[in-house]
Amino acid sequence: MSFLKLEGLAKSFGDFNAVQGLSLAVERGEFIALLGPSGCGKTTTLQMVAGFVDPSAGKVILNGRDITDVRPEKRGMGVVFQSYALFPHMTVGQNIGFGLEMRGMGRSERDKRISETLSLVRLDGLGERYPRELSGGQRQRVAIARALAIRPEVLLLDEPMSNLDAKLREEMHIELRAIQRSLGITTILVTHDQVEAMTMSDRIAVMHGGRIVQLATPYEAYERPVSTFASGFLGKTNVLRGEVQAKKERCCEVRLGDLVAQIPHEGKDPRGTVNVYVRPEKIRIAGPGEAGLAATVRTRLFLGSHWMLEVDSKVGSLRMSLPNTGTVPPEEGTAIVVNWSDDDLRMLSAEAAHA
Ligand code: ATP
Repeated sequence: MSFLKLEGLAKSFGDFNAVQGLSLAVERGEFIALLGPSGCGKTTTLQMVAGFVDPSAGKVILNGRDITDVRPEKRGMGVVFQSYALFPHMTVGQNIGFGLEMRGMGRSERDKRISETLSLVRLDGLGERYPRELSGGQRQRVAIARALAIRPEVLLLDEPMSNLDAKLREEMHIELRAIQRSLGITTILVTHDQVEAMTMSDRIAVMHGGRIVQLATPYEAYERPVSTFASGFLGKTNVLRGEVQAKKERCCEVRLGDLVAQIPHEGKDPRGTVNVYVRPEKIRIAGPGEAGLAATVRTRLFLGSHWMLEVDSKVGSLRMSLPNTGTVPPEEGTAIVVNWSDDDLRMLSAEAAHA
């Protein structure tokens, strides 16, 4: 049985449906990211799990118990918001101990828990400081420590890293994930940052228009997106128009401009016009005499670990990502031939693509 279940959760504001019949089953100790663009209903969903927003319909079930009508402070969940909301007049230790005091924990046990939690987020010795005496990254850790101090069964994170600079954010991803694993806390993270979702989660719920459109491991979601939206939201992708010509045992024969590709159909039955997806890192420059698609380099950018190329071809412009292996790719204006392994192509029928 799943530890945390959202069953048909919905929320309307007037006649606007912010969340529409969302169901999700989270296993104990699992880390799930709700990933989607601004306004897709991520925060509203999290707030319903936390108990700050009443659902218009649906249930929240925790460990087999319906908690839909239970008050937020009685749910045993730790919540961290984007605006850390630390109490400015309290020291770090007092901030972390606040929830424990509210729960009636005695002084000595509380002090022990505060110091353990400070250590967990690597802030040992800073318990006497005030929030204004800390850096942004340290304040962030205090907010996380405050949520963890009560040893919650569920941790809810709403874009908690969005105020940190890129380097600090990356460090926090790794650290927070390690803490979450060591404590085994069931966690839901709201984010619009696909790297954050991919690096931290066991599974990603891609959201669009108040619904989950795909729920999958980061690898599966990246490799097998279920729609153009899901594909474009998780990394860059190239979308080509193709025509299915024949279906074989494992592949479909699909015409892409002058080319015919053998694209794995994965048990589906696409017909007619299909969207074909190819990730930038799956396209390469063909060697001399190798077959492929004729193209011209329009843009060439050096990004350190890799080169980003945009090339024009008969089937449209394509983005390529080439690892920086010491060879400089052809300059802008050069005619080249590009190709890929057909096994790296994915396709969806035009209707599925727009789902
Ligand atoms: P963001 O990443 O920008 O925070 P989000 O995916 O978390 O976006 P929500 O905050 O859940 O989105 O909002 C979903 C939709 O519901 C938005 O269109 C928002 O304007 C609307 N909404 C949220 N709260 C209210 C409210 N209290 N009253 C009216 N509309 C609301």
